[in-house]
Amino acid sequence: MKIKKTKENLVIEIPLWQTEYDWTRKPIGKIENIIAVIHEGKCSINKTIEMGYCGKAPQIGKELLTFDMDVEEFVEKCNNLSINLYEYPTCKICKKTVYGSYTFNNSGKPIHLDCK
Ligand SMILES: [Zn+2]
Repeated sequence: MKIKKTKENLVIEIPLWQTEYDWTRKPIGKIENIIAVIHEGKCSINKTIEMGYCGKAPQIGKELLTFDMDVEEFVEKCNNLSINLYEYPTCKICKKTVYGSYTFNNSGKPIHLDCK
């Protein structure tokens, strides 16, 4: 990550790609380094965690930048910039964020595995 300050702006450059490695630390390709995330109405750009060493897809890592903007505007901006976006689902029964595995209610909406 490169950070510089101009007369008018703080400019932060975040690489779009990172190297993916197998379990022997041999490079096996490139994966996206960032992902846009919507979590309980909050918008952020997060680091991805490379999981090639165990043959899994990348995971969502820590927040790098947070944005105080309307969700629809954020989605449009991410689409225009071709940045992948993940929105955490909300359980339709208890209204809390669903992390990890979930199932669907009779209407096809996400619910926690243990919410009935
Ligand atoms: Zn629930």
